[in-house]
Amino acid sequence: MTDLLDAPTTKTTISQAQPDNNGYYGEFGGAYIPEMLYHNVETLRKNYLKITKSKAFQKEYKALLRDFVGRPTPLYFAERLSQHFGAQIYLKREDLCHTGAHKVNNTVGQILLAQRLGKKRIIAETGAGQHGVATATVCALKGIECIVYMGAVDIKRQAPNVARMKMLGAEVRPATSGSQTLKDATNEAIRDWINNPEDTHYIIGSAIGPHPYPDMVTRFQSVISEEIMKQLKEHTGSPNPDYVVACVGGGSNAAGAFYHFIDTPSVKIIAVEAAGEGVHSGKSAATSVLGTKGVIHGCRTILMQTDDGQIVEPHSISAGLDYPGIGPMHAHLITTGRAQAISITDADALEFATFVARTEGIIPALESAHAFAALKYMDLKKSDVVVVNLSGRGDKDLDTYMRSLNL
Ligand SMILES: *Cc1c(COP(=O)(O)O)cnc(C)c1O
Repeated sequence: MTDLLDAPTTKTTISQAQPDNNGYYGEFGGAYIPEMLYHNVETLRKNYLKITKSKAFQKEYKALLRDFVGRPTPLYFAERLSQHFGAQIYLKREDLCHTGAHKVNNTVGQILLAQRLGKKRIIAETGAGQHGVATATVCALKGIECIVYMGAVDIKRQAPNVARMKMLGAEVRPATSGSQTLKDATNEAIRDWINNPEDTHYIIGSAIGPHPYPDMVTRFQSVISEEIMKQLKEHTGSPNPDYVVACVGGGSNAAGAFYHFIDTPSVKIIAVEAAGEGVHSGKSAATSVLGTKGVIHGCRTILMQTDDGQIVEPHSISAGLDYPGIGPMHAHLITTGRAQAISITDADALEFATFVARTEGIIPALESAHAFAALKYMDLKKSDVVVVNLSGRGDKDLDTYMRSLNL
């Protein structure tokens, strides 16, 4: 498949946080799409910055973030964790967002964009159902038809989120091909978009996909680091931490937490990925170690694939990190050395989920527990200011916690 939006580059990237005109972060990104999607993706590309930067859009977006999502989320000094690790540890409380995670920052932005593009119908893909719920939520808010594609196997595994989506008025359509999981749901969503190019907007749930999705999702999530800078300045006198730590599935919460620090070299960036049962166990999602360059879901990035380019099924105990690729911005930051990747096993994540619960009185999402576990592998000094992005709360993972921890 060729990169249909590719054209001679007219601007070199000035910030590592933003792609060039063709959607490239260094050698990663672009828009590798079937020709039948060209019209939809090109319409988005031409309009997303113009619309999202407009005064009217910003006014409505910021009002909804404040009154519907509950922003700004607190930046909380975790006193007992700080004592334990011998550093100054702050938690960015995305777990306190409406619907329980950062994902809604993006879906609120995209629903406003879809409205302004005149779209009457929303489609989305979902794995564990978190993005499906965040999408169904904003569609209900705006009274727009919502169809969520979900693998038939995932529909069985994630019954509470399926019920949430239905209660919010969304239609959940099973994807019955292949392994009947996220990858197959994504294929179904793309097929739908090809067949409905005029009235439908596809809300992608992470900082992945063809340009402009990674940049668009990153900008919507960048409110996280915008707030961190303001709040950290109030706490410590400086807007910049020594470290910012976030888990990476596709990469949206990490992209948002890193965004405003990327061009400040004194802030060390730690991207935490899932090592499943061990990086080399054959049951892992440690893309930065196991991945090679290739194309997945519309962009060039690093992904887990066989020698002949078949996607390797990833594994992680946390559904949100169970993805065979990473967003192109993270591929760029990691391969250029700007970000350091740390891989965390299922066992470490479970241990730290419990530890954070008992140390701070916060039950984190399994994804976020990976970010906490990374603290153990960092060489921290007492004076180091560390911000951990607490991407979501653990309610959705209670079933796994009950089974894995014998609760
Ligand atoms: C979905 C999810 C993630 C992973 O997605 P990213 O796009 O990498 O942020 C992380 N944490 C939580 C709580 C999630 O729901």
